[in-house]
Amino acid sequence: MEQSIVIKDLQSLLLCDVLTKVPLAQYGTWRIGGSADILVSPCTIEDVCHVQRYIHERNIPSVVIGDGSNILFDSEGFRGIVIHIGRALSDIQISQDGRVTAQAGIWTPCYVRNVTRAGFQGCEHAIGVPGTLGGLVVMNGGANRKGIGEQLTEAVVVTENGSVEKYTAQECGFAYRSSVFQTKKCILVEASFQYEQGDATVLRTQMIQTLQMRNKKLPRKTPNCGSTFLSDPALYETVGPPGKAIEEAGLKGVTCGGAMISPLHANFIINTGNATSGDVLSLIAKVREAVYERTGHYINCEVRHLRPNGEMVPAHESADI
Ligand SMILES: Cc1cc2nc3c(=O)[nH]c(=O)nc-3n(C[C@H](O)[C@H](O)[C@H](O)COP(=O)(O)OP(=O)(O)OC[C@H]3O[C@@H](n4cnc5c(N)ncnc54)[C@H](O)[C@@H]3O)c2cc1C
Repeated sequence: MEQSIVIKDLQSLLLCDVLTKVPLAQYGTWRIGGSADILVSPCTIEDVCHVQRYIHERNIPSVVIGDGSNILFDSEGFRGIVIHIGRALSDIQISQDGRVTAQAGIWTPCYVRNVTRAGFQGCEHAIGVPGTLGGLVVMNGGANRKGIGEQLTEAVVVTENGSVEKYTAQECGFAYRSSVFQTKKCILVEASFQYEQGDATVLRTQMIQTLQMRNKKLPRKTPNCGSTFLSDPALYETVGPPGKAIEEAGLKGVTCGGAMISPLHANFIINTGNATSGDVLSLIAKVREAVYERTGHYINCEVRHLRPNGEMVPAHESADI
């Protein structure tokens, strides 16, 4: 379908701006990626419904992103429509009984601060996790062996055909860094949680300690996407977490083009300035091969790769191996 027609249609359909030829490097923490044909950042749930319906009826390739803190955008960009769920959708409501409902675009640290300041505990582990609440729920992200899904009571999504549906916690299928939303073509727009009463001052102290510990252990100044690889239970028993296995394979500081295994934390791949998605994928392949040779385990990626055709896959599936 003619792109100029799609742009005009979206402009008349949506309240938000319709951006074209958008450099995806600006929408991801790795600062890598070519341009997307079109990008919209809906500011109402109705807009999300409109854009989903429009795309579905015309079979246009599309992808949803939050803050891009877990996505490797391809250097060739993406030929389709990016639906960016960001701060324009970031309302939060906290009830006195600990029920919290928030929109998907709220920044996770801001969400956590709001909940803990109100005197509720259960999400403080996520204080240092960048990205949106929507991305966190989809990835069932968290820290200290916890996942945000543990206290979730309901998720609201906009389906492929533009209708609103509710999921119970059980229907979300949460497991370690995974949820059913990773394989569905729906957009998470809102989630509700039930938290327990806690002491706001104690929680604040805990969170400061968490942030201080993360600041010491994790690379902060060079663009990265957090942990590249998932922990594998069998590998964990014999060797430990992926970072340890990668370090023991002698890969700290190893580079492919502009991508480097962080000298600070071996599970982080950093962009030293001019890395391409191909550099990162080559490094991922190298790591997997080296760790396999030493341990007999292939480690898989937490980080997703957005292919130019719109497929969003765990990055190792795109790495040459
Ligand atoms: C420095 C650093 C540290 C990190 N530390 C941690 C950590 O401690 N623990 C941890 O779990 N993660 C960590 N991460 C990874 C990342 O921050 C989380 O996975 C985060 O929750 C992703 O949120 P996002 O908004 O950036 O999602 P994105 O990266 O934009 O998207 C991730 C996936 O979710 C999908 N998605 C995003 N929003 C929606 C939505 N509204 N509806 C449907 N699908 C959606 C995307 O299509 C994609 O598949 C870290 C990343 C960085 C850069």
